[in-house]
Parts: sequence; structure tokens; C-alpha cells
Amino acid sequence: MTLQLTEEREISIRSIQHFLYCPHRWGLIEIDRAWEENFFVTKANQVHNRVHDSKQRYTSKNRKIYTSVPVYNDLAEYNLYGVTDCIEKIGEDYCIVEYKPTKPKERTYNFDDLMQVFAQKICVDYVFSCDCIAEIYYADVKRRFPLPLKENHLEYDKLLKETLNKMREYLIKGEIPEIQKNQKCNGCSMKDLCMPQLKKMPKVRNQIETINRKSEEE
Ligand code: SF4
Repeated sequence: MTLQLTEEREISIRSIQHFLYCPHRWGLIEIDRAWEENFFVTKANQVHNRVHDSKQRYTSKNRKIYTSVPVYNDLAEYNLYGVTDCIEKIGEDYCIVEYKPTKPKERTYNFDDLMQVFAQKICVDYVFSCDCIAEIYYADVKRRFPLPLKENHLEYDKLLKETLNKMREYLIKGEIPEIQKNQKCNGCSMKDLCMPQLKKMPKVRNQIETINRKSEEE
């Protein structure tokens, strides 16, 4: 597989969060085209539907607020596209605001969500020629939390590029990644389709091969 081939695939910003949460789930969605909704997905959709009203462009407290802003970065090492929930313009500075329904317990953000917003920053900076900041707004606690994207830019940029390369390799091979060790499945809408407990069982074929080998050795 050549690097050129992997670079040709555009990746949606949203799918980066899916991949980092569970590569197997990402593969079921992107490669198998499978999708199941549950309570958490429906709740997240409702929050986003309220935000994603493109008529909502207004000024508030000296901030220009734009919702549902399409962004992209077509540099070969990224080749990303997506829609940001909200971008605020304060003077010449930009701030991405990502909406999530529920704040994680005992921390201010999930790392997969942070990387999704970092990918948005890569696109927003490219489109608007800026160096934006970013925050996550949680609907349940009605609070915004800043994300340390500028401070850790080099680290997150390296991780983003590695993640995009891995995703492209799976897409080109048409292969669904294996379930990771210690994968947390609570709240996953794909549990009924995925049946992770069954997949963790040793494969029947392997068992038959082991039995055959043993009987040949006897
Ligand atoms: S049930 Fe678990 S392993 Fe299966 S897709 Fe969901 S998170 Fe991944």
C-alpha cells in the first residue's frame, strides 16, 4: 500500500471520534455500513439538531456566532471535512464550541471528543487563517470547558496524523479492526449488532484446528 493511496481518502471529522472510541465500532459503521441508535445517540442528536440550525447567525455580547459551519482541510496529510457545531468570532479571534449532551463523570472531557475538536481546529485554522481556541459545552450541566489544544498542538497533531493513516489503511483493505482489549462497551448503540462477548470467545475454526492437530500427534 502506498502513502499516495492512503492520502486520497477524505475522512469526516466525526468518524475520528468513532475510531478513537472503538475502532471496531468505526469499522462496523464505515465499512459494514451498520448503524444502531440508542438513548445516548438520540440525546446527542437532539442537542446537535438544536445547534445545527444554519439560520442561527447572530451577535451576542460583542461575539459573532455562527452555527453549523462547514469546514475542511485538503492538505494531503489531513484531507478532512466536517461541520462544526458553532464558531464564535471575538474581534479577530475564533473559538470553536462543540456541544455534547452529558459531561463525563470526574473529568472535563473524553479524549476521543477532544481529538474530534482538534481535527475541527485543523480545519477551522486552515479555512479562516487563524489559530483558534476551543471549548466543549455540556447541555446537562449548562457549562463550557476549555480544551488545551494550543498547549499540546504538536502531540495531538502527531496523534491525529497517525490515526488518519490507520483509518485509511483499514478503509483501503476493507477490513474491520479487531475489538481492543479492555474496550468499554457501556452505552454503545451497536452492542446488539456487535455482540462483543461472542466475538471474544475463541474462534470455532481455531478450536477445530487445535483438536485436529492434537489427534494427528497422538
Ligand atoms: S459493543 Fe463494544 S466492541 Fe462492539 S462496537 Fe460497541 S464499543 Fe465496540
